[in-house]
Amino acid sequence: MDSSGALHVVMFPWLAMGHLIPFLELSKRLAQKGHRVSFVSTPRNIKRLPQISPDLSPLINFVSLPLPHIDTLPENAEASIDIPAQKSQSLKMAYDGLEAPLTTFLQNSVPNWIIFDFAAYWLPEVAAKLGVPCVYLSLSNAASLGFMGPPSSLLGNEETVLTIEDITVSPKWVPFPSCVVFRPHELVKIMEGIGENESGVSDAQRIGLAIQGSDVVALRTSVDFEPEWINLLHDLYKKTVIPIGLLPPLVQDVENEGDAKWVEIKEWLDKHERESIVYVALGSEAILSREELNELALGLEKSKLPFFWVLRKPPGSTVDESAMLPKGFEDRTRGRGIVYMSWAPQVRILAHPSVGGFLTHCGWNSVIEGLGFGRALVLLPVMNEQGLNARLLEGKKVGLEIPRNERDGSFTSDSVAESVRVVMVEKEGEPFRTKAKEMKEVFGDRNLNDRYVDGFFRYLEEHRSPDGTSS
Ligand code: UDP
Repeated sequence: MDSSGALHVVMFPWLAMGHLIPFLELSKRLAQKGHRVSFVSTPRNIKRLPQISPDLSPLINFVSLPLPHIDTLPENAEASIDIPAQKSQSLKMAYDGLEAPLTTFLQNSVPNWIIFDFAAYWLPEVAAKLGVPCVYLSLSNAASLGFMGPPSSLLGNEETVLTIEDITVSPKWVPFPSCVVFRPHELVKIMEGIGENESGVSDAQRIGLAIQGSDVVALRTSVDFEPEWINLLHDLYKKTVIPIGLLPPLVQDVENEGDAKWVEIKEWLDKHERESIVYVALGSEAILSREELNELALGLEKSKLPFFWVLRKPPGSTVDESAMLPKGFEDRTRGRGIVYMSWAPQVRILAHPSVGGFLTHCGWNSVIEGLGFGRALVLLPVMNEQGLNARLLEGKKVGLEIPRNERDGSFTSDSVAESVRVVMVEKEGEPFRTKAKEMKEVFGDRNLNDRYVDGFFRYLEEHRSPDGTSS
């Protein structure tokens, strides 16, 4: 232990922007308290991260471990944004190859704690051998973890395993009425995550082993939002479960005010009335089919409301970006809507007073960012646990889900236009707008959320492993 009592914590996030960024946020909070962080990732991901302010950078050491070569992974692919979704299991195989270099690093540095992500299912065993305690930090909310049940269900124990039949109804271990379930049309994509794959370990097994092997499960959520689900996790896991708050990003931390890209966006946003614009963005990984893209575009057009739409072309695609949109769409919506085909300064846009609502794929980071500024949500879940998030949010009355065909999951431009109008302007959407504004404190208030982080850090300080010895 160093003489000041400061901790040395190793952070090891999964290779996706939606994971790297919150792990970095937590690293910054640790550094603000004077703790030392080793942030371990691959060279390109480290370069991609937002800059750290000069007062914190001496305490955050970026440790760059190159990914081993995997034949099925494109050259230079180091994160999920570099590859189509089908290649994500190859990326996990490569990530598993980091076990040996990470072990060497840990042997040499002997930290007080390791905070790791779901994909590194092998890490608890490595940590135990070195006598270093570890925290599995889940970036999902408590409802989606609670839905998946105890580790035994994720690991395929016959008595508790989650079957196709019971993921569309509330699972047996949820002891209260709940609307958090998957819809039939979401099952195909979900079962891909549960099933075996080329890495030899399914996502469900990774999460199960991470929960089972860790000393502590920490979650990016708060008792102010989902107390019932956090209590359930205490019962299901039978180990320390710590909600660390929502880690709301600070706008000034995220982008530089004078940035040319932002100046241009702000000029456009400034021209609009207060809370009149719907911000549309589906995160860093979700890709819509051609038909879905078409319906979404036509729906935004039919809504007659101003919109700012961040549209990403699928990784590796060579099509001209405008060709992704319906014919004449840009001309017909010119002045009223922007289609932004690049990485957008999302937090800054959501913070702008002209933005009133957020059409989101329900990624947990996006939800936190939107509700942190009190924006009512139009919910369009695409993959992973996003369907569960959508139902949780609709149940909490902060958003409205765009209706999809139950069988094939398709949606129409009319349903997009109607949902957007209800959430943004119609009288019947008033309760969503009011509730989302109420949530601004829970999701965005720095002091309220820092209390959770402080509680987590106190736990780490009190239960640290002494440097250089086994605990
Ligand atoms: N993001 C951004 N600009 C973009 C697209 C995404 O800043 O153009 C950020 C967004 O603010 C959020 C993260 O990327 O912090 C996406 O995370 P989320 O959990 O919402 O979705 P995922 O990408 O994991 O599906």
